[in-house]
Amino acid sequence: MAHAHTTRIQEFIGDPVSDSPAVSRAKLEEIFQDIQKDIRFDHELNGCLNCGICTATCPAAHYYDFSPREIVQLLWTENLEGIYDAMQEKIWACAQCYTCAARCPFNNSPGGLVMLMREAAIKHGMESAKNVLRPFSRVMLKLISTGNQLSPDMINAEGFPDWGPNISKVKAPLKVLRKAIPMPTLNTTETAWEVNLTTSVELYTIWEESGVLTQLETIDENLYDVILDIMDEKREDLADWKDSQEDEDDD
Ligand code: SF4
Ligand code: SF4
Repeated sequence: MAHAHTTRIQEFIGDPVSDSPAVSRAKLEEIFQDIQKDIRFDHELNGCLNCGICTATCPAAHYYDFSPREIVQLLWTENLEGIYDAMQEKIWACAQCYTCAARCPFNNSPGGLVMLMREAAIKHGMESAKNVLRPFSRVMLKLISTGNQLSPDMINAEGFPDWGPNISKVKAPLKVLRKAIPMPTLNTTETAWEVNLTTSVELYTIWEESGVLTQLETIDENLYDVILDIMDEKREDLADWKDSQEDEDDD
């Protein structure tokens, strides 16, 4: 039975005196083991003086309820509930600037440890990861379909409402303006520059082999399906192009 006053930790991991906690001990251990078994873990966590130098120099700690010292302490003391709780919100505040790593007297990298926790959050399909990454699906789609993160036609009022009235300054005859750029690979509007088809297909192989696509499937299944279709199409285009080259050589 849940208590009337549920703490934030209990909200995520369940009531400790409940018969059915939301997250089992086995699951908490599995998540921690995923973080700990990463080859980078031992390099990035060598001990902790709890001195707080990392937090004192951390820009994210100035603006958010986030402290790299706390993150390192949770991992160092293997506080499984605390680690899980931090993965629901706090870890997403880190700007990955690595000032902490440059200052830590123990040569720890709190920012690097945060990255490991983020990867585990994605692997386990946590809602926090889905919420944080959702706005980036447009960029992800663009990156995989064109090899660029951003294209000129994405810079519009709808895509960048935070630019306010200044967005009108980039409203322009894009095609004409891009044609004026001397390099032909930049005469594009749907992609920042043209990426070679072979390069795109090689990137797909890297994403497949490195597990990026598996992670994407966990976070956004629809986007994953769309991206697989794009990849198949590009691979077919490359095969057709290679065939046409062979035909030309035969002639
Ligand atoms: S991670 Fe380093 S800088 Fe941060 S509290 Fe621990 S020893 Fe100090
Ligand atoms: S890498 Fe993250 S934790 Fe480290 S100083 Fe930068 S924002 Fe803070």
